[in-house]
Amino acid sequence: MRIFDSHAHYLDSSFDEDRDALLENLFSADVCGIIEAATTAESSQKAIELAHRFPHLYATVGIHPEQAAEAADGDLDILRRLTADEKVVAIGEIGLDYHYEEYCPRDLQELWFRRQLELANKLDLPVVIHDREAHEDTVALLKEYKPRGVVHCFSGSVETAKEVLKLGMYIGIGGVVTFKNARKLVEVAAMVPKDRLLLETDAPYLAPVPHRGHRCDSSMIRFTAETIADIRGISTEEVLRLGVNNACALYGISL
Ligand SMILES: [Zn+2]
Repeated sequence: MRIFDSHAHYLDSSFDEDRDALLENLFSADVCGIIEAATTAESSQKAIELAHRFPHLYATVGIHPEQAAEAADGDLDILRRLTADEKVVAIGEIGLDYHYEEYCPRDLQELWFRRQLELANKLDLPVVIHDREAHEDTVALLKEYKPRGVVHCFSGSVETAKEVLKLGMYIGIGGVVTFKNARKLVEVAAMVPKDRLLLETDAPYLAPVPHRGHRCDSSMIRFTAETIADIRGISTEEVLRLGVNNACALYGISL
């Protein structure tokens, strides 16, 4: 049983006490790969440093829509420079967040989303998309730029999923699929083609049932995989295997 966590935030302060020990334990158990998702220029640099301490941890570089108000114009050049590092596998997480609009106005979110989509296309890197309560505008921009990549922690409808899949992109599914009220996501988990499904935690957030509400880590993907296996009528091992293979394919990783 091998686990690839395609989206986590181990730089979060909730891991300050035991970050290295926890990651060592995870990698010596079932976890074979983790993508650390950055949210600012500064965390992009730190994600790369973390990735250099753990051979099977990889980094994205990017500015999250909630952080776009604090980004400086020079940050785009910093990101471009950081992509030269061998452990950088994608631009992310980038996108639109209309739930936390008070952190950053929509036009500024869109400006940074466009800048980073352009950068990803120029560098031929995949993107990690954050879309919260902004499905229509996110899909419109994805149609315009046609990047490779994943819509992480997918929260849209089956119809939105179809549009994302039509663009050749992946759908990231995390612990939310195990929640009682996850009806929409259960429908999506049932219809995503085998070769377009990514597994993720978004650790430390969104721990799956039975750990809901607690600090999440990559080992908990087994519960998410179990739920998806039930939904699709296949084995948990098969779901985990798809998660590993698809993450390696999208991010160009050979384990
Ligand atoms: Zn995230």
